[in-house]
Amino acid sequence: MPTAVSSMGWLEALVDSPGASGLYTYRIPVEIMVSEGDIISVPFGTQQVGAIAIRLLAHAPEGLTPSSIKPIEAVINTTLFTKEYWTALNRVADYYQTPFIRVLKAALPPGLLSRSQRRVRLRQSLSAEKMAALMTGRGFSRSAVKLIEVLQSSPTGDYSWQYLKQQIKAPRKTGTATQALSALQRCGWVESYLAPPRSPSAQKRQAVLLTSSEPLDPLSQRQQAILIGLQQAGGELWLSDALQQLQTTSKTLKKMAEAGVLVIEPREILRAGSHSTAQPDQPKSLTADQALALETLHKLKGYAEALLHGVTGSGKTEVYLQAIAPVLQAQKSALVLVPEIGLTPQLTDRFRSRFGQQVCVYHSGLSEGERYDTWRQMLRGGAQVIIGTRSAVFAPLPNLGMIILDEEHDSSFKQDRPMPCYHARQVARWRSQLEGCPLVLGSATPSLETWVRFLGGLLHYLALPQRVHARSLPPVELVDMRKELHEGNRTIFSRLLKKALEEMLETGGQGILFIHRRGHSSFVSCRSCGQPIECPNCDVSLSFHQTHREGRAHLKCHYCGYSKPHPEVCPQCLSPYLKTFGSGTQRVVNDLAKYLPQARCIRFDSDTTRNKGAHRALLARFASGEADLLVGTQMLTKGIDLPQVTLVGVIAADGLLFMPDYRASERAFQTMTQVAGRAGRGEHPGRVIVQTYSPEHAAIEALVRPDAAGKYGEFLQQELSDRADLQYPPYGRLVLLRISGLEERATENAAGRLGHKLEAMSSEGTEHYSVLGPVPAPIYRVARRYRWHILLKLTPGSALPPLSRLRPPKDISLTIDVDPLNLS
Ligand code: ADP
Ligand code: ZN
Ligand code: ZN
Repeated sequence: MPTAVSSMGWLEALVDSPGASGLYTYRIPVEIMVSEGDIISVPFGTQQVGAIAIRLLAHAPEGLTPSSIKPIEAVINTTLFTKEYWTALNRVADYYQTPFIRVLKAALPPGLLSRSQRRVRLRQSLSAEKMAALMTGRGFSRSAVKLIEVLQSSPTGDYSWQYLKQQIKAPRKTGTATQALSALQRCGWVESYLAPPRSPSAQKRQAVLLTSSEPLDPLSQRQQAILIGLQQAGGELWLSDALQQLQTTSKTLKKMAEAGVLVIEPREILRAGSHSTAQPDQPKSLTADQALALETLHKLKGYAEALLHGVTGSGKTEVYLQAIAPVLQAQKSALVLVPEIGLTPQLTDRFRSRFGQQVCVYHSGLSEGERYDTWRQMLRGGAQVIIGTRSAVFAPLPNLGMIILDEEHDSSFKQDRPMPCYHARQVARWRSQLEGCPLVLGSATPSLETWVRFLGGLLHYLALPQRVHARSLPPVELVDMRKELHEGNRTIFSRLLKKALEEMLETGGQGILFIHRRGHSSFVSCRSCGQPIECPNCDVSLSFHQTHREGRAHLKCHYCGYSKPHPEVCPQCLSPYLKTFGSGTQRVVNDLAKYLPQARCIRFDSDTTRNKGAHRALLARFASGEADLLVGTQMLTKGIDLPQVTLVGVIAADGLLFMPDYRASERAFQTMTQVAGRAGRGEHPGRVIVQTYSPEHAAIEALVRPDAAGKYGEFLQQELSDRADLQYPPYGRLVLLRISGLEERATENAAGRLGHKLEAMSSEGTEHYSVLGPVPAPIYRVARRYRWHILLKLTPGSALPPLSRLRPPKDISLTIDVDPLNLS
């Protein structure tokens, strides 16, 4: 178990109670052995509640009289966290300058402790007489004897601690229930444990499960067919599903159960969404490149890193699947991290088809109950694959055999707020190192950070330079939108794109139109006074939204969620002449209706995919041919594999190119490459049309070069030298301090004082860094809070100053973002 063990002294615990905040100090009684990471039971107010032992202390904290500190009641569970897991959490806390307790809270599913119940069970099934004989003459209290009696009367040999305490309401003299329990635990006769609660989804349903027994009587052909069907479904099905999918009756199944080849019994739902309709599939025979990559991966022993650099559609996922298979055979687990949940339906289906019930999905979009169930499932260890987003990097898998980060360049692996502002790739690296397992980073457009590691010889480089079946990457055609305007085309569709769309519709193909960011620039302003309509809480203009063609339009703030109906007149000057600017997804859909009325489209952005399952549903509708065009934002860039898509259009690349961010160029190139990669994945060749007002931009030029994958290295080389000039990462480190508060002056003053303090620390201390700012954040006010930034620039390899010592005044919030990706 984790680090220090103590049977005396004090500890700090994270208490699970609505009234608890922060850490509480408890005394460790002599008879109790406790380690960091143990689940314990402690008095809190008038109750006994669950808690996690966070830190053992050699001395009682100053200001507290040792005798006034309450003792912990018991250790309930010592196996929740492995040593490696606990160490990884500590590294996150250190590196990202975040109090450990906040890291722990980010890692654990909500309500872990409050949902669990402390129970006590007999460890030995001795007869009542034997037990009584053992106990006599050894000085056990009456309570202890009673406790054993009660437990022996339980059909399962256990009871909840709550119930046991009630049963042993003994007079003081005979020893309290707690003392009795401790004494019995010391002899090893009973143990207490943390029982998972009955989760909300844990109602039992009849399930049909395959056994490995030979049939008692020979099976009929029909019965054999049912058996094979069940096998293909992964060996288990709900009874209701089995009747339907195997086209049989409960009578037949019962007969087969009597023959011993299957059992029908009530089961809890354990895995969220486990009954997907994924069809079973077999490993594909690999291309030469895939085989080479796989061979290298299979040879990796212990911690090692590999970069799988494969153009979109080159079969990276197939390599992951085959790399994981031996891991599972060795009864180890694999963790697969993906950028956004929009990506998971297809990827999850592919994993489920291959590995069936061994696949679990874990992400923050699950309900509390589902997250809790999956967490429990992970703790059990064994062969399983967890697919999840950023936060799944904290999956408590005890026996990790491999970690895969798909689309490793994606910025959603970085948490901007709240603290810990971790990057899942960095945390995954620590976990791989601690668990001694390989880390595989996959991308068509690796991040600069990863590229630099490759150049430094820190990882195995595996290339998949070609698409499967030698399908060519579609060429990128560029349209200079300045020329379009010059030649009288004022619509958002260039003539080339419009023609391509028409051709696509004629031939019955499908297409994707990409817009940078949801409705970001679609603001409304007044033609008379020129004022844009702004959010009352934030310094941004409201975005225009119209959900139904006839419905009333709304204006919405993308930062705080404020929304109001589109006004009839300008709020400033009451002029009725309001105009909508920009081109969000909504605008594109509206314009399509005007210029290409025959096109049927589906919007795919954070508005339309907000509901659970909406991603999957929209993609399924599109895949079934219900629409010709998918119109969407960044979400479209992620791993969507739709073979029938032949045309991809980027409406305006410029929004991507000119973000106020030193990474804009890298990100623009990555995004456009990913979007372009959605075209021509099937039998028909694809076409990619990019519209821009700045065709001479380096990222655009790199994009149109015919051999995009091969030139990626060159493009990155150019980026690297630009970054070196300015000492930006990876040639320097950045730490962003975000300061915010409701009071304008107070926030500004606090930011100023923090800035001075940081300057002083830099000149006194051994760590040297430059302090940029404080400056008002690019968007000064969000959700009524005023925001300031301080940026620290460090030379590579230098240690961070002790930022945890900074204490902002009350009412001012300070977020420390180490290695920030997003500077706005
Ligand atoms: P990537 O993840 O690199 O974008 P995918 O793994 O999605 O690529 O592969 C693209 C398509 O090619 C998928 O439909 C996949 O099923 C198929 N595929 C991958 N590898 C093979 C192979 N060795 N043989 C046949 N088809 C393959
Ligand atoms: Zn006006
Ligand atoms: Zn707002």
